[in-house]
Amino acid sequence: MGPLDVAVVGTGTVGSATALFLARQGHRVTLYEKVAEPQTLGAGIMLQPSGMAVLRVLGLEQDVVPRGDRIDRLWVQTASGRKVMELEYAQLEPSLFGVGLHRGVLFDVLYRAACREPGVTVRTGLDVEDLHPARGGRQSVIERGTRKRHGLHDLVVVANGARSSLRDDTSFVKSVEPYPWGALWAIVPDFDNRFTGRLFQVVRGTRRLIGLLPTGHGPLERSRPSAAGPSSWSEAEGAPRRSDHGDGGPRQVSFFFSLRADQLDAFHAGDFEGWKAGVLEDVPEAAPVLGQLTSHDSLLFSSYHDVVMWPWNTERVVYLGDAAHAMSPQLGQGCNLALLDAWYLAEAMRGAESVPDALFRYSRNRRWHLSWYQFITRWLTPFFQSDLTWLQPLRDYGMAWSTKVPWVRKQMVSAMCGVSRGPFMPLLRLPK
Ligand SMILES: Cc1cc2nc3c(=O)[nH]c(=O)nc-3n(C[C@H](O)[C@H](O)[C@H](O)COP(=O)(O)OP(=O)(O)OC[C@H]3O[C@@H](n4cnc5c(N)ncnc54)[C@H](O)[C@@H]3O)c2cc1C
Repeated sequence: MGPLDVAVVGTGTVGSATALFLARQGHRVTLYEKVAEPQTLGAGIMLQPSGMAVLRVLGLEQDVVPRGDRIDRLWVQTASGRKVMELEYAQLEPSLFGVGLHRGVLFDVLYRAACREPGVTVRTGLDVEDLHPARGGRQSVIERGTRKRHGLHDLVVVANGARSSLRDDTSFVKSVEPYPWGALWAIVPDFDNRFTGRLFQVVRGTRRLIGLLPTGHGPLERSRPSAAGPSSWSEAEGAPRRSDHGDGGPRQVSFFFSLRADQLDAFHAGDFEGWKAGVLEDVPEAAPVLGQLTSHDSLLFSSYHDVVMWPWNTERVVYLGDAAHAMSPQLGQGCNLALLDAWYLAEAMRGAESVPDALFRYSRNRRWHLSWYQFITRWLTPFFQSDLTWLQPLRDYGMAWSTKVPWVRKQMVSAMCGVSRGPFMPLLRLPK
């Protein structure tokens, strides 16, 4: 295949990474983003060894990892202090670790790199509502509101997240369900460096999960790089401005509190100090964080979607990231799976005879790994976030016991690292 004209819809994790990979293969890429001035907003996320491997191939690992916090283990305990699970990255391979990161850092680094890349044209403020088949099987994108058509693309990469409307007219098997649970979250400075080295979670029954994730230094404040002209590159909500704290700034910690989406109004109507006292009772370690939360508005709420579809492509359109397989963030894999999607697509494009050939190859090659993560996420999430209270003893005793079995522990750690493909399958080969 010669150089193609490629549209990528969405400049999230997978959109920017895909634009970089494809432009570096010589394709002309137009990156469409609905937000006029993309911002570095977002919660704390876990970058896993799988995601780091993709960033390494893109030459961006060193821009991202030093801005996060090294995580060596996942620790889960009950509110009474009973250990449920402790998983260490080093149990799979001594050199492995995760990184607690402000999502804005990943966004910032990938987006800026895409804006700098010679083969990428970034068009912000363009909300893509639909796709339109044009001559020779090529595709235009249709702008919401004006219904104006843009481009004549050989390939469209749909990377516009879980709420994408670009799946609606497709005929393949799919389901898009809002997940009943979500999370309240906040990112605050960790002035005394109390939170280091582990993702710490406390559970009470299956209806309460509280998490603390070291999140590193957050995104840098700098001027926005795209062609839309100079404007401020704003800091994420709750994150301190670098200039307020000198070089590097204070480290931050992310706080998560799981909540049913239908209880959000009740939370806002409730007594905030009483809520904090309840959290403190279960997690005394959270005191320095709670001290910085002054009202309900100190916390943001994120809801999740469960997206299942197959295959992830038509002849000229491919669906990546959350648009293709959004899931509950229980395993902390969303961004990492998205980064792997971008790399797999680039590999499928390399040496393919035609666009359909590349896209069907992509769906085939990606199927096993993604299906496995969707399966275990759906299977595990109710143990931590659901109304199925009878799962509690199975988790607190069964899971605690099973992680002592070396084979089971290895399966769990490889799943956490993003490289599992199922219990009896070889681990995923990471990009080099
Ligand atoms: C509370 C929470 C915690 C999480 N924790 C983790 C974690 O620990 N580890 C992890 O790996 N993942 C985590 N995730 C998941 C992770 O954030 C997502 O899986 C990941 O961001 C998906 O990336 P994406 O590029 O597919 O989509 P997005 O990041 O959603 O990007 C989509 C982009 O498309 C743009 N867009 C949308 N519609 C249009 C349109 N019509 N036209 C043009 N542009 C459009 C959007 O503005 C956006 O820029 C978490 C998610 C949540 C909510």
